[in-house]
Amino acid sequence: MEIACLDLEGVLTPEIWVAVAKQTGIPELATTTRQIPDYDQLMRNRLKLLKQHNLGLKEIQAVIATLDPLDGAPEFLNWLRHHFQVVILSDTFYQFAAPFMAKLGHPTLLCHNLTIDDRGQIAAYHLRQANPKRQAVLAFKSLYYRCIAAGDSHNDTAMFAEADAAIFFRPPPELAKKFPQYPQANTYPEFQTEFTKASHRPLTPP
Ligand SMILES: [Mg+2]
Repeated sequence: MEIACLDLEGVLTPEIWVAVAKQTGIPELATTTRQIPDYDQLMRNRLKLLKQHNLGLKEIQAVIATLDPLDGAPEFLNWLRHHFQVVILSDTFYQFAAPFMAKLGHPTLLCHNLTIDDRGQIAAYHLRQANPKRQAVLAFKSLYYRCIAAGDSHNDTAMFAEADAAIFFRPPPELAKKFPQYPQANTYPEFQTEFTKASHRPLTPP
């Protein structure tokens, strides 16, 4: 059996923090691991900013609810689920992803979790485990699934290394250059073609 392990942000949806920063007018929220490589420090900064601006989960979810999946993403995901078991592996949080999941037909999602206090403020965040995407691929392999991984970013390359096949979707040019062994797709039709090539089964053409 084959399973598709799919990244979320940049592949099916926009980058959530970037969009929240834009919509709330708090540019510092768009800071990513490129500027602050320590994820723990980055998240503590973000939570501090939300508190300073008095933004609770409800306000953030309201912003996220105005966002749509990337153009063509729901149709692509439908095609993928028709041909593969699909699991979405993401470094976002269930509470943030929820509005997108509704728009994507509630696919299986493995990601992190938030603790919300009585006043609706984000009190803490909990990472599912260390190296979550890589560990998920290792776990599926231990269940004898053949894993085809796909993503757009640095945080996907650890799962790429463990997967049986891997595909970049719209990666930054320097990342694609660093990992020339992985094919890249820049449109959903190209993405379907790459999944078709990566599969060991004959699929009906996209
Ligand atoms: Mg991504």
